[in-house]
Amino acid sequence: MDEFELIRRYFASQSMRRDDVRLGIGDDAAILQVPAGQELVASVDSLLADVHFPTDLPAQAIGHRALAVNLSDLAAMGAEPAWALLALSLPQADLDWIQEFAHGFFALAARYHIALVGGNLARGPLNIAVTVHGFVPTGQALARKGARAGDQVFVSGWLGDAAAGLRHLQAHTPVTATDSCVQRFCFPEPRIHAGLALRGIASAAVDVSDGLAADLGHLLEASGVGAQLEVEQLPLSASLLQHATREQALSMALSGGDDYELCFSVPRERMILLESRQHELGCPVTRIGEITAAKTLQCLRNDRTEWPLRVTGYQHF
Ligand code: ADP
Ligand code: MG
Repeated sequence: MDEFELIRRYFASQSMRRDDVRLGIGDDAAILQVPAGQELVASVDSLLADVHFPTDLPAQAIGHRALAVNLSDLAAMGAEPAWALLALSLPQADLDWIQEFAHGFFALAARYHIALVGGNLARGPLNIAVTVHGFVPTGQALARKGARAGDQVFVSGWLGDAAAGLRHLQAHTPVTATDSCVQRFCFPEPRIHAGLALRGIASAAVDVSDGLAADLGHLLEASGVGAQLEVEQLPLSASLLQHATREQALSMALSGGDDYELCFSVPRERMILLESRQHELGCPVTRIGEITAAKTLQCLRNDRTEWPLRVTGYQHF
């Protein structure tokens, strides 16, 4: 099967149709219509085998993750996803692998009505780059900057699950398909609904891809503030507590990556609004601390003693 037949069969034919796609896959570039009154929000992330995921991860999970990590960036901006482009480099045209990959990718794309509008296919080391585009009403995007002293810090969902899941996969212990930490590493849920509901409420937001301490650190730096984090308030799932002691779990919640939750700040006077939109968020949110004028990230136990911060996120260089 040649390159164009592969593209047609596994990618072009499975894309959603959207009216704002004037010209999709098949020409030299796509032609896309941004709705009036909306700004375009764009992001790209690549997934490298053995850097971002174990090479033998099921292809369906790789397809899902490739899109999910990008959608998570749109969620952090409060954007509504619309279009994606996919640049795929594969060591060989393994049709079963490609089919499974596409299955994972398009199942997630369909849930958010995202059209695949272009891409590239090449032979080479396994590498997947996805570009996503979304919309936000002009001026309403969330950003890392904007947090002020006194704002309350929240996080969506549960932290640490993906780190425990990855550890479990890497240890090659018999992996139970139903283990929910492994599931959360393989199929992270981008918090799109939360991002949309947080427009007009959050003063700043970031998605947690490299670990809470590291990513909250980016938000604090961009906002020119610090925070006091109540480590023992971090939301831990029952499944994580089956993998680890409470102390280990808190440490994974603080420093483990790949959770793709949203961390955001909310001015006190908007806490009531947050409460009123709870049903729109699509997941629980937990208050985990407060923004401070002092530009440091302080981690405290319930008894107000300091929690020592060790690992602070994955660094490529
Ligand atoms: P060009 O050489 O002009 O860049 P290609 O021959 O690489 O175009 O691709 C032909 C068409 O197929 C383009 O519209 C491109 O965006 C699309 N395409 C290529 N690979 C993929 C893919 N993996 N997924 C979706 N669309 C793809
Ligand atoms: Mg061309």
